[in-house]
Amino acid sequence: MLNNSEYMRYSRQLLVDGMDDDKQAALGKATVVIVGLGGLGCASALYLAGAGVGCLRLVDDDQVTLSNLPRQPLYTEQDVGLNKVDVACASLSQRNSTIRTEPCVTRFSKANGKALISGSSVVLDCSDNMSTRHHINAACYTAGVPLIVAAASGVDGQLVMLHPAHEHGCYQCLYAPHQGPANNCLEQGVLGPVVGMLGIMQALSALLWLLKMGEPQWGKLRVFNALSSSWQGFNIPPLPDCSVCGGN
Ligand SMILES: [Zn+2]
Repeated sequence: MLNNSEYMRYSRQLLVDGMDDDKQAALGKATVVIVGLGGLGCASALYLAGAGVGCLRLVDDDQVTLSNLPRQPLYTEQDVGLNKVDVACASLSQRNSTIRTEPCVTRFSKANGKALISGSSVVLDCSDNMSTRHHINAACYTAGVPLIVAAASGVDGQLVMLHPAHEHGCYQCLYAPHQGPANNCLEQGVLGPVVGMLGIMQALSALLWLLKMGEPQWGKLRVFNALSSSWQGFNIPPLPDCSVCGGN
């Protein structure tokens, strides 16, 4: 099912316990939506493209700025001023020309959310503001698509895995629309490796889910602190009056 070039390219991945040709081929048929092509999105896209996810749909309406470069490794100084998703798609295609990239130069909203996640296997929320996060949560819950959310600010990170088919709360059960983690690096600042690590955790979680390996931590909030190099995990109970999941 895989050709010689694919065997060569993915040889190390294929050697991993639990991997096989069929799983690699299935990865090639998967579509992953990445909303936000900042530090989280760049890191996750790099590794999902490298692993051979067949289609990456990238959603962002921002342009590259100089202040992005320390932690957004898909961009160079020559890209400042250009649309992030256009640069990211070109950069990913140079690294793996066998995958497809779909650039969506737009902001994820209530109006376009359903179309943006249609046909996707999993969605990664790599955005940097709460209104977008709630639009993504509602769209994924309605469409029944699993969602992996990450946030990073300062020296702290959060990872949330949500699956509408499982009995747990949704993102709005965790954070009301006016609450949520301080995740705007414009205000809080962030250390590049912290945001990179959280983005890679999103890629790893998505990859394991697509490959049907391990036990996905659906319904869990995991919190990382870089200073103590520690993780803490919390369950996300459904709220009976949640307007998105209705207490699941
Ligand atoms: Zn909910």
